[in-house]
Amino acid sequence: MFTENEKLSLIISREDAFSSRYFDYQKSDKYIYYNKNNEQIEIGVYTHYLNGISTDIAIDLSTMIGCPMQCLFCQSGCVKYERNLSSDEISAIAKIIIKKHADNNTKQITCSLQGIGEPSLIPETVIDLYQQLFNYDKRIKYSISTIGASIEGLNTIIKSGIEIENLQITKCGTTNLFERKLTPNGISINKLLDFIKEVIKRQNIKKVKLNYILIKGKTDRKEDLQNLITVFNNKGITIKISYLNKTECSTKHGLLPTSYNEAILFSEELQENGIDSYVFGSFKNIAMSCGQLVTKKN
Ligand code: SF4
Repeated sequence: MFTENEKLSLIISREDAFSSRYFDYQKSDKYIYYNKNNEQIEIGVYTHYLNGISTDIAIDLSTMIGCPMQCLFCQSGCVKYERNLSSDEISAIAKIIIKKHADNNTKQITCSLQGIGEPSLIPETVIDLYQQLFNYDKRIKYSISTIGASIEGLNTIIKSGIEIENLQITKCGTTNLFERKLTPNGISINKLLDFIKEVIKRQNIKKVKLNYILIKGKTDRKEDLQNLITVFNNKGITIKISYLNKTECSTKHGLLPTSYNEAILFSEELQENGIDSYVFGSFKNIAMSCGQLVTKKN
């Protein structure tokens, strides 16, 4: 399957109870794929279970080697950006992982652009990759996670008509002070509302979610809650409340997670104010979730 210099290394494998609307237990595998030039590309593979029954496999695919976006909480933001991957490269890696993890009992394979990189910057790659994966296995659902760095790029992807199971926009903070600091290249909350109003009308986007990361004293304040309610109540968006995974980068910047109980209260208050919301995460550091997909080069 590999040429002489390529290899796939499994570096973490673990199982954890999970808070999510769709599953309650997750088996997680973290791989590094070394290409023939010895570049490292990370992949997360998650098998989800609900009440002991496997529901799907989700593969977090990286789209870049390093990330130029420099989100303060994300380990990928702390490493040097090197280059974008091509759709052929990403597709070849996805196929290797699918062969390894999926069998005849697998009902759904979610290929999610949620690894290292920002998909809105590479719309042509995202569109071409969808075609390659969809032609490979009809069980594949395609999801995109973005900080909304390029609205033009996102519009190109959406208007291409490709079927997107889940378009997730990550936000960290609701006030200029924190959103510009924590995600310096991300979309502002007000621009995001205009974008969402257009996106939810599109037939090819099944779910639109705001992935809101709670950080103690910075994004979980009463002011943030009120801003989210003011902007998003009755707008047809789901707000997923996510746990801040501890990384070298988040530690360096003194960013701490909000507790599970506080996350539940935050989410409940959104629900009471007309916003669909749920809490997501293992609420412990599993060293391979969103933002943790970087392993130091050896
Ligand atoms: S959160 Fe996404 S866009 Fe931001 S630095 Fe990490 S990989 Fe890049």
